[in-house]
Amino acid sequence: MINCPKCNGEYGYEDGNGYSCPECGHFWTDLCLEEEKVMDAVGNELQDGDDVTLVQDVKLGKQVLKRGTKAKSIRIIEPVDGHDLEGKIDGVGNLYLKSSIVKKL
Ligand SMILES: [Zn+2]
Repeated sequence: MINCPKCNGEYGYEDGNGYSCPECGHFWTDLCLEEEKVMDAVGNELQDGDDVTLVQDVKLGKQVLKRGTKAKSIRIIEPVDGHDLEGKIDGVGNLYLKSSIVKKL
């Protein structure tokens, strides 16, 4: 049994990929309870304001951002096409990035 985060009832039960409360009808998932962490390619937790480098070449139209390119002051964003970070790259500007292809400095 698991407590309902809404009415604090004691009879919450697993229901598909989340939990249901039979008392108030509330449905929730683990993601609602824990803040989702964003990890880099090697498992470091990323936070707003971190500087990162790319761990692989990234195609950007005709341009290629080389592995090792630095992105400054990243911001964790609501994912856009799988991109969950935004960072500033010198000479390029603000760019959406994927946490899976960066490494924290
Ligand atoms: Zn409830």
